[in-house]
Amino acid sequence: MVKSSIAGYPVIGENREWKRALEAFWSKKISEDDLLQTTKEIRLANLKKQQDAGIDFIAVGDFTLYDRVLDTSVMFGIIPSRYNWKGGQVSTSTYFSMARGNDEAVASEMTKWFNTNYHYIVPEYEGQRFELTENKPLAAYREAKKELGIEGKPVLLGPYTLLKLSKGFEDNDVPSIILQLIPLYQRVLQELQDEGVQWVQIDEPILCTSISSDEMKTVTEIYSQLTNNLSGLNILLQTYFDSVEHYTETIALPVAAIGLDFVHGREKNLDNLKQHGFPKDKVLAAGIVDGRNVWRSNLQKKLTLTETIQQQVSPDKLWIQPSCSLLHSPVTTRSEQKLDQTILNALAFADEKIEEIKAIQTALQYGKEKFTKVFEDSEAALTAFNALPARNNKEVRQATSGSLLSDSKRNLPFAERKVKQQEKFQLPLLPTTTIGSFPQTPEVRATRNKWRKGEITNQQYKDFVNAEIKEWIDIQEDLGLDVLVHGEFERTDMVEYFGEKLDGFVFTEKAWVQSYGSRCVKPPIIFGDVAFTKPMTVEESVYAKSLTDHEVKGMLTGPVTILNWSFVRDDLSREEVTNQIALALRKEIEALEAAGIHMIQVDEPALREGLPLKKAEWKHYLDWAVNAFRVSTASVEDTTQIHTHMCYCDFNDFIEAISALDADVISIETSRSHGDLVEAFNEYHYDKGIGLGVYDIHSPRVPAVEEMTEIINKGLEVLEPNQFWINPDCGLKTRKREETVAALKNMVIATVQAREKL
Ligand code: GLN
Ligand code: ZN
Repeated sequence: MVKSSIAGYPVIGENREWKRALEAFWSKKISEDDLLQTTKEIRLANLKKQQDAGIDFIAVGDFTLYDRVLDTSVMFGIIPSRYNWKGGQVSTSTYFSMARGNDEAVASEMTKWFNTNYHYIVPEYEGQRFELTENKPLAAYREAKKELGIEGKPVLLGPYTLLKLSKGFEDNDVPSIILQLIPLYQRVLQELQDEGVQWVQIDEPILCTSISSDEMKTVTEIYSQLTNNLSGLNILLQTYFDSVEHYTETIALPVAAIGLDFVHGREKNLDNLKQHGFPKDKVLAAGIVDGRNVWRSNLQKKLTLTETIQQQVSPDKLWIQPSCSLLHSPVTTRSEQKLDQTILNALAFADEKIEEIKAIQTALQYGKEKFTKVFEDSEAALTAFNALPARNNKEVRQATSGSLLSDSKRNLPFAERKVKQQEKFQLPLLPTTTIGSFPQTPEVRATRNKWRKGEITNQQYKDFVNAEIKEWIDIQEDLGLDVLVHGEFERTDMVEYFGEKLDGFVFTEKAWVQSYGSRCVKPPIIFGDVAFTKPMTVEESVYAKSLTDHEVKGMLTGPVTILNWSFVRDDLSREEVTNQIALALRKEIEALEAAGIHMIQVDEPALREGLPLKKAEWKHYLDWAVNAFRVSTASVEDTTQIHTHMCYCDFNDFIEAISALDADVISIETSRSHGDLVEAFNEYHYDKGIGLGVYDIHSPRVPAVEEMTEIINKGLEVLEPNQFWINPDCGLKTRKREETVAALKNMVIATVQAREKL
């Protein structure tokens, strides 16, 4: 019979209990024992839900205290020397130092997990000798069995994906790293086998990226070695987020089961399955329900998909599951009390996806006829949803099919704009600025909550925000910053804020997903056509500008980021939805300019994470994504300076697209990559203004002047002083006020010293 499986489940809990526990621990409000106890309860509750739903193969060991890749690095002793780890068991404090930095050592780099908004801690290879510090999957297996009687399926990040996500090695180090890793993986697997574990899930999403045939050969060798001495233990090699690049080689790997994503990757896995079949002796774990979007499945369609798959795979060799770990999905729609009923009915989060899997499994087992109501309900819910007028806005549809989308070129080329802008702004060399947000103190959040609950009036809230703006304009002037920002105090979140003011979005109460560490985001849901209704940011920017003679940057979130950080309707292409957003933002930018704001920053931190996993598809994505940005910014005067910002460092293949945005100034994150980014500029002559972030804002640590000087000097090796801006890596909303002021003070000192040496 067809079995059901889950590849991973969100850690955070229905009410973000996990986040609260971690943050209480970090601020020393609870002990380590308390932290471990609370997180154990959350972990078991998560497992219990899957057990109660009747899932056959439940993932264990996917739980984490910060990040799953970091867990893997720690498990194998891939720990940089700066944390002074002496071997043996890794303490919680070393673990969190790697994630967050400490007084002596900066945190490890953090970057996005494939094309998601989940961030992992990049493993740093320094030629260190690896060692097995703990068998985490085994511990998780034992716990689930002892506490809940679950025969769990431990999850482990695969060696090839681990290697490919690491940094600090050259191509010729690869064989020796693999040689070191294999015995450790073998030991983990051997111990699982000795324990009597039946199935282990090894995640290798890297197989869905454009890896070469040679790399695929290496993967095959790795897996033959890993499975060499295994007899009782079965390996499920799990892939997700796209189709596998090398289908026939992947299904031939010497493992007992292959997990494939049948939702993403334009049906290539399905085509390959039909064309090349599937080995009779292997299990196919078929991802049939979207594990990373929020829409309810049309169960009939999923059943049909499963039946198509069954033409190649016998029922006793088929598992059905969501397309990837549910960690990218919110926990449950049961927590939503305020949503419009038609929209709510069209949603399914992690718990509901589990039910969908179970419903399809049961229908396959006992016949759909016995469950017609479940099938009809899903169909009816989606039909009602599709008929909503908000999903069929004629004006928006006309605009996005019209000529505005080709009006994406600014009046003058950059070189000429630059002269005009410099005449107008008279900025010093190495102008200093920040990325937009200033600390969202508990007071800021509490006041916003009061306003939302109607406990204070609109005017009171506005006065409060204005007082914050004024305070920080004064601080920025005192610090001697050149280009100021208003501080974004009115925004909880850079996407939510716009979504609330544009048509086409809905907001949930509790649909949180983990973004990095304890930080969760609650992405808006783009369910309808996106349209501009009224100015969104003009008042705050104009007020800030009225307080100072400096330029104040207007601050917007770009179309591609709004798209990538939202859950997006899946009946239109992502390109089409982005174009709708771009045309709405264009109106906002025009309104800002008309109100006297002459520098406008349009943040696109998520431009890169939208890149398809397959290189062959990059160009198409970048073409429409870059065009959308340009459509939103192209109509301004020559002297209006368009800024953009990206929190990203891996720019090497990407710099041309950045240049094509035609933004006058871009600020990007650099400090966590310890300056590596600069190399990109050696190869590509970048002519526009650029701020390389000179300090990491993810850590509470106040960087010394010298550290920033070093990054500035590195930047000056490849950039002209008249194009180089000085700024932190990103917005400062998560930092405390004192840290922020102290760090910016050092940043200005480093800049002034650097200017003197020019
Ligand atoms: N302007 C935003 C801020 O400063 C940018 C944040 C981001 O790039 N993630 O908060
Ligand atoms: Zn950023």
